[in-house]
Amino acid sequence: MGPTAAGRERAISPTIIRCNCGHRITVKDVIQTGVYLSVLGPSFVYVRYRCGRCKRIGERLVQEERWDPSVLRPARRGMSDDELRRFVDMGDITPEEIIDFHYTLDRLGAETEEEARHA
Ligand SMILES: [Zn+2]
Repeated sequence: MGPTAAGRERAISPTIIRCNCGHRITVKDVIQTGVYLSVLGPSFVYVRYRCGRCKRIGERLVQEERWDPSVLRPARRGMSDDELRRFVDMGDITPEEIIDFHYTLDRLGAETEEEARHA
């Protein structure tokens, strides 16, 4: 896997932190975060939380390269996890799409001129 594939995988499945009770930890449950730096192995981000549902305190370690702070963002209203995943799957706009868009604009402009001439 090249760096692109790894980046894509992280975009689709960030490490979501869940309490043992299944509650998804968001930023309002977090007490503390920090980084364990390691010279030899991978570094880790630790997240200490107090579960908003069962009130238990827990801690989770995530490999730093797998860490995406956006997993702590509360789910956006009106956008389910599935919708969010589909949105991420769409990826970046390709040059082809930009060219398409450009041609569409050109065509629209030409049609409008045509109408103006007939008016
Ligand atoms: Zn819990």
